[in-house]
Amino acid sequence: MKLSVGDPMRCSCQPSMEEDMNGRATREVIICQAVHAIVLHDSRCTNNCVFCGTRDFGAIKENVRAELKRLRAAVETGEKIDVVEISGNDPGEYAELPTLVSNVRLLVGTCAIRLASHGKTLADEEFVHRLVDAGITEFIIPFYGHTSRVHDGVTRTPGSFVNSILGLTNVVKAGVRHTLTVLITKENQAYLTEVLLFVASLVSEVSVGVPYLGTPGFRDSVPDFDMLRGQLSSAVQAVRDEGRCIIRLRNLPRCLVNPAGAIFEESREPPVGAYEHWRRSQMLNSGFVEILNDRVIPRYRLFSKTRECKQCCYEGNCAGFFTTYIDHGLFKPNPVSSETNADGAPVRG
Ligand code: SF4
Ligand code: SF4
Repeated sequence: MKLSVGDPMRCSCQPSMEEDMNGRATREVIICQAVHAIVLHDSRCTNNCVFCGTRDFGAIKENVRAELKRLRAAVETGEKIDVVEISGNDPGEYAELPTLVSNVRLLVGTCAIRLASHGKTLADEEFVHRLVDAGITEFIIPFYGHTSRVHDGVTRTPGSFVNSILGLTNVVKAGVRHTLTVLITKENQAYLTEVLLFVASLVSEVSVGVPYLGTPGFRDSVPDFDMLRGQLSSAVQAVRDEGRCIIRLRNLPRCLVNPAGAIFEESREPPVGAYEHWRRSQMLNSGFVEILNDRVIPRYRLFSKTRECKQCCYEGNCAGFFTTYIDHGLFKPNPVSSETNADGAPVRG
């Protein structure tokens, strides 16, 4: 039974423990960034991920014009912007992306510009150089597997793993900041430790989570959470034992993974403007999105807890888990009776 819904309009910047490469907590940090979204929702994607789906180009030129107009208005009205994040189906498949990035750079001056892309088109080294010269300062690339079979099994696209690896190689060569993300699905769950060790061998920081449950078709690919409870803890521990990479657990509750020494992140507040293109009556009437504090928020980004959470020692500082998973009976909170330290000893109950 749903008792509360996390407030997505609260600051998403949660305090977290910074730890050293041996997994020892060193200091608590809070990083607050004002992120403005440029969303190329009319861009193409030639992947066909199990939780998403392939897309062709729509009215991309109008889409680009509208997003630049919105950014210009944000700058003119003094919106605080630390980072511009360019995303969409796949912005990297838009050949004129370097021009768009140049225009963003002209509008925002020196702030960071981040590109979220499957990375396949970054296999073209010249394209990477053009993007970096235009102003991209960070790349975010998802990896779903440690082999072609596992990664391409999630993207349902032969060759996607090889091209994303080539893309990452070019980004590394260009010396630009890059972050990898891993989303856990039924298709890669059995290989979770191998996948995390693989990505940890490539970068110093990885974000791990599960996909938003936005489309009903994804239900068949939802991981087995009962199995995941033990699996995720041992996979994270395996990476910590290697001591090469920091794992950030994104939007995952503490009842899903041994919290001792782990770093949790909650992103309850989407980048500004990320879902503005859904401010249409048919979307608002469909129940798929909600308007909160005059911002469009898709329901799949909301968090819920259940009555059982009242018994959990983390109840006071846990947002719960995605509402859509809980409402469809795909995730059941599992109250933790007492908090333990890194040695497994209780610290409070
Ligand atoms: S790469 Fe991104 S946009 Fe493309 S199918 Fe996968 S999740 Fe969707
Ligand atoms: S049982 Fe509820 S309060 Fe406890 S960690 Fe899980 S979701 Fe959070």
